Amino acid sequence: MKYIGAHVSAAGGVDNAPINAYQIGATAFALFTKNQRQWHAKPLETAVIDSFKKRCERYGFTSKQILPHDSYLINLGSPDSEQLEKSRTAFLDEMQRCEQLGLTLLNFHPGSHLQKISVDDCLARIAESINITLDKTKSVVAVIENTAGQGSNLGYKFEHLAQIIDKVEDKSRVGVCIDTCHAFAAGYDLRSEKACKETFDEFEKIVGFKYLRGMHLNDAKSELASHVDRHDSLGKGTIGEAAFKFIMQDSRIDEIPLILETINPDIWAQEIAWLKQLEK
Ligand SMILES: [Zn+2]
Ligand SMILES: [Zn+2]
Repeated sequence: MKYIGAHVSAAGGVDNAPINAYQIGATAFALFTKNQRQWHAKPLETAVIDSFKKRCERYGFTSKQILPHDSYLINLGSPDSEQLEKSRTAFLDEMQRCEQLGLTLLNFHPGSHLQKISVDDCLARIAESINITLDKTKSVVAVIENTAGQGSNLGYKFEHLAQIIDKVEDKSRVGVCIDTCHAFAAGYDLRSEKACKETFDEFEKIVGFKYLRGMHLNDAKSELASHVDRHDSLGKGTIGEAAFKFIMQDSRIDEIPLILETINPDIWAQEIAWLKQLEK
């Protein structure tokens, strides 16, 4: 069973997200629980929390079908102690918002060294940030997203993800989300069944499917190993259709949210329908 959806709008209130997801035929969705370009947000109101939970129930979304994404400002591996503190505070707030909404996953980008500290030091800071946050919360799983490796962003190698997980104390509350566009831009080929098999075998060997808690399904505008993060609609970009067929038919990728972050929301319903018919 595959759960397929998109990163839908939560404009006007997070409780609008399940409706927006339902309207495009989704069986999963992603959302921001606050404005992703601002540090601070008002606490969630009880009425909005209740409405979100009711609507999720009405439209058939359980917490394992929902993959909230944190703010783009947060850098859990920041070399600057003030920025690191600010990021850890904001990340805790994100996780607490998820808990209030009854959600169990929180997807985030690992962090950037900004050319000021080593890769190993940055990865250790990220793991420490996760440990601190997990200690202060009860149920949400920290889901690390792989990146394209643009700028000094870490997480573009499966080894980075493994290194972070290795340092997280509670392994039951850490996972990963593989973004196909990011993986391809980072140098993992997905353009044929054979390439997908090799890439996912590599993932199994280095990280392990037991940690896979979600995926972002995006085609790419950028080239293999370009380290440029540019999403495209499925089948229209440099990755092509084969990767999405492979994913839809791989039972190791069952029962986790598969989220479109493709560039044209007007065709999300079509993209979801296309993915659904690829399932065995
Ligand atoms: Zn992301
Ligand atoms: Zn993504």
